[in-house]
Amino acid sequence: MRKKIIAANWKMNTTLEEAKNLLESLKNVVVPEGAEVILNVPFIHLYPLKSMVDSMSGFSLGAQHCSEYESGAYTGEISVNMLKEYVKYVIVGHSERRDLFDEDNEEVKAKVDVILKAGLTPIFCCGESRMLRETEEHLGFIQHQLAESLFHLTSDDIQKVIIAYEPIWAIGTGLTATKDEAQEMHAFIRTEIEHHYTLEIANSISILYGGSCNGSNSVELFAQADIDGGLVGGASLKGAEFGRMVMGVES
Ligand code: PEP
Repeated sequence: MRKKIIAANWKMNTTLEEAKNLLESLKNVVVPEGAEVILNVPFIHLYPLKSMVDSMSGFSLGAQHCSEYESGAYTGEISVNMLKEYVKYVIVGHSERRDLFDEDNEEVKAKVDVILKAGLTPIFCCGESRMLRETEEHLGFIQHQLAESLFHLTSDDIQKVIIAYEPIWAIGTGLTATKDEAQEMHAFIRTEIEHHYTLEIANSISILYGGSCNGSNSVELFAQADIDGGLVGGASLKGAEFGRMVMGVES
């Protein structure tokens, strides 16, 4: 049975005081059995939030980004070896990193490798633009992203990856994929995994939906057969709403 996961992406938001208040507002959230909440917070908040997150059952910390290099002269970057004291998860290939910081499939692949080598779990993001969906090239585009950054992995390693399907046109826009659009893509991703590995492996991997997921649409989205939870941006900054999303996820 696949794990249900609700991952928060706080992005470049919250001062330390705001971060502590947000975490405090999640303290009484009961995570359904077998589910997990991953809080991908700004790097600088990892240390100050760690002990409180560790005391919250079902919650873990994640990072939003890492360097593809293990150490060296890369001013301003952060390595997986630095992160692994604090987190179990690292987001990789988020569309904001791809678009704003020119990360391509090759760089994403290198990061997936370095994350796995450090014993951490990549939350691998993929997603198409509005134009690609309108021209019906979205399936081929995702196929390409998966093939170039993930399908070099061994059968053992691919099972350590969490995939997040995040259509770019739905991120931070208030537009959400319909449950049928999201389910179709999730089923497609699972079939692609099956083609490269096995049905058993495909069925073991958690695939999250992201893109304006909120308290009003999460129950319907997460109830789809191939949707195993969500990667949540904007709504994860609202403690009460995010808490409701977590408690509503079926494990
Ligand atoms: C995200 O950044 O991963 C995301 C899904 O953002 P939002 O929920 O705000 O669309």
